[in-house]
Amino acid sequence: MDTKNPTSLATAAENTPMEKAPPIEVKEFENLYEMAVAQFERAADMTELNPSLRAILSQPKNELIVNFPVRMDSGETMMAKGYRIQHNNVLGCYKGGLRFSPLVHLDEVKALAAWMTWKCALTDLPFGGAKGGIQIDPTQLSPAELERVTRRFTHALGTNIGPDYDIPAPDMGTNAQTMVWMMDTYMNTIAYAAKNVSRHVVTGKTVASGGSVGRDEATGRGTIYNVASWATANGVELKDCTFAVQGYGNVGSFAARILQDEYGATLVAAQDHTGSIINKSGIDANDLAGHVAQQGGVGAYGKAEAQDPDEFWRTKCDILIPAALEWQITSENAPHVDCRVIAEGANGPTTMAADRILTENGIDIIPDILANAGGVIVSFFEWTQNRRGETWYLDEVRHKLKRRIADAYDRVAQTVKHYGCTPREATSVAALNRVAQAYDERGIFP
Ligand code: NAD
Repeated sequence: MDTKNPTSLATAAENTPMEKAPPIEVKEFENLYEMAVAQFERAADMTELNPSLRAILSQPKNELIVNFPVRMDSGETMMAKGYRIQHNNVLGCYKGGLRFSPLVHLDEVKALAAWMTWKCALTDLPFGGAKGGIQIDPTQLSPAELERVTRRFTHALGTNIGPDYDIPAPDMGTNAQTMVWMMDTYMNTIAYAAKNVSRHVVTGKTVASGGSVGRDEATGRGTIYNVASWATANGVELKDCTFAVQGYGNVGSFAARILQDEYGATLVAAQDHTGSIINKSGIDANDLAGHVAQQGGVGAYGKAEAQDPDEFWRTKCDILIPAALEWQITSENAPHVDCRVIAEGANGPTTMAADRILTENGIDIIPDILANAGGVIVSFFEWTQNRRGETWYLDEVRHKLKRRIADAYDRVAQTVKHYGCTPREATSVAALNRVAQAYDERGIFP
């Protein structure tokens, strides 16, 4: 890779290496929040962050846990546990998704909230970072039960969310319908919201209920705009490339279809919670999306072969897109990863030890807070449209998204060059510099 190219994300090895921040101790963390803090500490060392700011930013501002009852279709009552973590709001309202998953726990949500702070700062949005989650398996609940869980949780949050305070959006296990239920509950229960001025309490809504065109595809599209920037910087023809995707939900399926339909690349393998499939001759990304819509997953797709889940990570391809869960690429499977670039559609899919192995093996990484920032960028567009009473055209949304992603990609490339660091370190450093500047200018009250 050409490290002299200003838009290359590869570590600028010819630059003077960081002297003040020695290499980080690389280990496999057992806790996602510890990993997020270690990444932050690394960026703090590299930027020589002052100690009081380091202390402020290493903890979320607010941690809210609610336990609430939900009536099930059977007539029984289920107790659900929900979280909303507000990490930082120095750059603007708290902003971040809501996740429904049986694996949701406090430290996972804390990590995801912190990454939202850095993602919004990196992409220059007027937002801080937050995240929410409810510890349920959405695939085991009926639509009516999901609606009652969502509405009861929104009611429990009360004024802890708000259109100018904290704005949830979809994440794993939630979708546009979830957001519409949240909006409707908020507008029916919070007095001032009833005046029809609060649709922007959530983003990622259906278009009919105030969502933006292009929000559904935004995260996957942003991932692929990043891949396109990487390809341009490295002289790679995407039409000659093959790719594999883990997760065929919102992020993974849009990323796959856009990379195939608009850039001509060939999908060769996919994996989700129902199985792993491979076809070296190519899998039609749209046909697979239709299968997933009907069958609930990629497993049992007839036009590809089933393969062992561990084998998925050995798939020979040019582009690997993890778009499901955190901690999927670990020190165990990283040595076998056989691709040119990893574009992290998911949050936190790569452990720090795996990151080191992949980098040593010459695999480029487009880190999560850059690669999946398209979702929050178009959420910002939706919030802006709601506030201004506007509706934008799809080509306008895509154009503005492309520009913001390209700007952020370039900022990361420049930071790589300036610090002689890895792209992941560069995303944290560029984001932290922006947040730290705001703190420096504002000072600490009183
Ligand atoms: P989704 O619920 O639409 O899809 C999740 C996918 O992950 C599904 O295909 C599911 O089958 C798969 N999956 C679940 N468990 C799995 C397992 N054990 N092994 C393999 N696959 C598994 O969720 P999404 O919105 O596409 O989110 C995916 C990732 O992208 C998450 O990390 C999320 O935080 C991140 N993300 C989402 C958005 C967004 O706008 N939706 C924005 C930024 C980041």
